[in-house]
Amino acid sequence: MLIAGNWKMYKGPAAAAEFCLALRDEDLRGVDVVVCPPYVSLAVAVQLLAGTEIAVAAQNVHWAQEGPFTGEISPSMLRELGVYGAIVGHSERRQHFGETDATVAERTRAALDAGLFVIACVGETEEERERGATQDVLRRQVSVLEADENLVVAYEPVWAIGTGKTATPGIAQEAHAFIKSLLDVLVLYGGSVKPDNAAELLALPDVDGALVGGASLELDSFTAICRAATRS
Ligand code: PEP
Repeated sequence: MLIAGNWKMYKGPAAAAEFCLALRDEDLRGVDVVVCPPYVSLAVAVQLLAGTEIAVAAQNVHWAQEGPFTGEISPSMLRELGVYGAIVGHSERRQHFGETDATVAERTRAALDAGLFVIACVGETEEERERGATQDVLRRQVSVLEADENLVVAYEPVWAIGTGKTATPGIAQEAHAFIKSLLDVLVLYGGSVKPDNAAELLALPDVDGALVGGASLELDSFTAICRAATRS
C-alpha cells in the first residue's frame, strides 16, 4: 500500500519543516508513505526525512534537463536535491495550466528515464461521467503511458477532488480494474480521501493506495489514513 500526500500550494519551508519533524516521529511501518510539498519546500523535506522510510516527491516535473523553460523544474534538478519522484498530470494542472496527454507523456518519460518515481494522474470530469465517456477518457489518458516499475497511476475523478464527494466503492473499483486492464500498473485512488472513508476504499481489490490532497495537510488525518492502509 502506498499513501501519497499532495500538499498542493500549501506549506512553505517553515510549515513543511514543522510537519516533517512531527511525521518522522510517527510509527508508519507497513505502508509506503510519500509527501509531495511545493517546490520551495522540497529541500527541507528531503533533509528532515533523510534516514526515514518516508519519500519526498515533487508535484510536477519538466521533460527537458535544462533550457529556456521559465518557471519549470527538470528531472535532474529534482534528483540533485534528493527528491524521489514526482506527480505528473494532476487534474489541477490539466484544468488550469494547459497540461495535455502529450505533455503528461513527455514529463512521465523524462522523469522515469532520470530515475524518478512517477505518480501519473488520470480521471474523468463530472460532465464526462454523466455522458458515459469515463472509459473513453481513461483509455485516452492511460494510452500515452508505458508500464514501468517506477510508475504508478492515480485514478482521481475530477468531480471528487477537493469537493468532499468521494467515488463510491463500486465506481472506484470499476475504474481501477479498467485501468489495470489497459496497463500493468499499481493504481492509487484520489478524491476526497479522509480518515473515515479510507479503510473502505483501500480494502477494494484493485486499489493499491491513495493520493490524498486536503487530508494530507494535517498530521492527524494523514497518519490516520496511513494507518488505515496498514490494515487493508
Ligand atoms: C489531490 O489533490 O490529488 C486530491 C485527491 O485532493 P483531495 O484529497 O483534497 O480531494
